[in-house]
Amino acid sequence: MEIRFSPEEEAFRAAAREWLATNMPRTKRPESADLHARRDWDMAWQRRKYDAGWAGISWPREFGGRGATLMEQLIWYEEYARAGAPDVNTGFVGLNHAGPTLIACGTEEQKRYHLPRILRGDVVWCQGFSEPNAGSDLAALQTRAEFDGDHLVVTGQKIWTSFGHIAEFQELLVRTDPAAARHAGITWVICPMDSPGIEIRPIKTLAGNSDFCEVFYDQVRIPLANVVGKLNDGWRVAMATLSFERGTAFMSEQVRLSRRMEELVALARQTTHGDRRTIDDDEIARRLALATAEVEAMRAMTYRSLSLAARTGMPGPEASMIRLFFSELVQRIDVLAMEILGSSAVTGFAADGAPHDEWAERYLTGLSQTIGGGTKEIQRNIIGERVLGLPR
Ligand SMILES: Cc1cc2nc3c(=O)[nH]c(=O)nc-3n(C[C@H](O)[C@H](O)[C@H](O)COP(=O)(O)OP(=O)(O)OC[C@H]3O[C@@H](n4cnc5c(N)ncnc54)[C@H](O)[C@@H]3O)c2cc1C
Repeated sequence: MEIRFSPEEEAFRAAAREWLATNMPRTKRPESADLHARRDWDMAWQRRKYDAGWAGISWPREFGGRGATLMEQLIWYEEYARAGAPDVNTGFVGLNHAGPTLIACGTEEQKRYHLPRILRGDVVWCQGFSEPNAGSDLAALQTRAEFDGDHLVVTGQKIWTSFGHIAEFQELLVRTDPAAARHAGITWVICPMDSPGIEIRPIKTLAGNSDFCEVFYDQVRIPLANVVGKLNDGWRVAMATLSFERGTAFMSEQVRLSRRMEELVALARQTTHGDRRTIDDDEIARRLALATAEVEAMRAMTYRSLSLAARTGMPGPEASMIRLFFSELVQRIDVLAMEILGSSAVTGFAADGAPHDEWAERYLTGLSQTIGGGTKEIQRNIIGERVLGLPR
């Protein structure tokens, strides 16, 4: 592992810093409840990065990426977070799941069609993996696809589909061979969300928005050309998708956390408890110091995981260690923020419980960190079985 940056990497960092300093969005992303306005804002920013050559840093050049190394990708994320640039938000699935999965497992035609559209901000993707009876136990999924000539005909239901109602495409897992062993009869397919037979019902969340949906499929016809990987090989492709979700997708999030810690320390300096500043409370100061150190520890873990992924092309099961550590750390930081705010935290929530203040919103949305992308228990199972080699 080489932790120093080469002169080329330092030059890349300087160029990224300079571009971000002059090109960052000047307006704020619209209110989180207005999903369509959020989408337009996110896609316009994505387009701006694409036009300047800063989209898909490590994606192949032939498909619109920058063709840079994974280390440069990390440097970009560091500079991006340092500048306070906006997270990918509605672009998350396309940029962090579907794109990397297509690069690893898609056909030339699929890559040529989809990758530039994702990078240009032309399309939003969503993920149709979870079902009412298949979450942690994803291999229990029952949405079935039957063969009809050169099409699959899909019938069933998905749930917790983030951004389903504003997406053009979905990475969809279907059961193509009900007679095969659970993991063997699944296929990963690209589903156009405007296909006849799809019904989408938004679900309102604790945080007051409707980012999630239920998606129902009634005889939805999808061309066989949309299968990614081979028929009945969807489990392998899905594991690639999840490894990106648990691994490289979190590079940027963790960098963002160190910025949040700086804001939290500033908040503890500004607020008072009784007649003294909150930061002068020894226990608060201790927890701020610990969280700051933990964020630094996570950065070191990320560098290590990245240097492994750079050699193998894909994040390994160690990515679950970072994902788990990150999700629990976020929640500790969110609770600390609420304690620093003290009783004034309550004013961050409206009468119906929805947050209207950034810290309140982070606290509520942070609760999902130990569920999405695999719960903390599932991450611990993966670490136990695949990293430590413990018996099942
Ligand atoms: C913010 C967010 C966004 C999401 N976006 C999407 C999306 O876009 N697309 C999509 O398909 N899904 C999405 N999901 C769904 C997510 O993948 C599932 O919620 C997750 O996989 C857990 O499944 P479940 O909710 O069915 O819980 P369950 O699997 O029913 O788990 C319930 C509880 O049992 C525990 N448990 C289950 N099995 C085991 C075990 N073997 N060992 C120990 N404990 C166990 C779990 O840890 C959990 O505490 C999202 C979820 C969140 C929170």
